[in-house]
Amino acid sequence: MTNITMNQPPAEDPEFERWPPPQAAPQPERLMPDWPVTIWRGLCGRCPQCGAAPIFDGYLKVHKTCLHCAAPLGDMPADDAPPYVAMLVVLHFVALFVVLFFKGYYQPGLLTAGVLLLALAAACMIALRLAKGAIIGILLKLGLKREVPNG
Ligand SMILES: [Zn+2]
Repeated sequence: MTNITMNQPPAEDPEFERWPPPQAAPQPERLMPDWPVTIWRGLCGRCPQCGAAPIFDGYLKVHKTCLHCAAPLGDMPADDAPPYVAMLVVLHFVALFVVLFFKGYYQPGLLTAGVLLLALAAACMIALRLAKGAIIGILLKLGLKREVPNG
């Protein structure tokens, strides 16, 4: 009779690999500050690595490299994450007004509704820029670059 234990790897099996394999995670190439500092600098629109230069060249266009420390800001694949995060945050406030409206607690006039829509558009634009900066900081800290640099 053989004695089989379920939690022990078969020691004699050379094909057995533990998961995750050692050194499987990509190591960040750059020395980055701690997570709160990195995310705060991104939220402020400053380079997440040095904090001395702006991330953005305009409203949402990202500099290809940091003007101060040459961090590859333009190679960070933020893609659809910033709009997703911005909508996730802003639409919670919109949902409050929708619930109040349909429950009959708040019936804004046309002018008030127009002002609220303008405020919503402004909140979306502000949240989008904040989220994009923070996500570029997270990606830079994780060392996740595009495989093909963004032309
Ligand atoms: Zn920098």
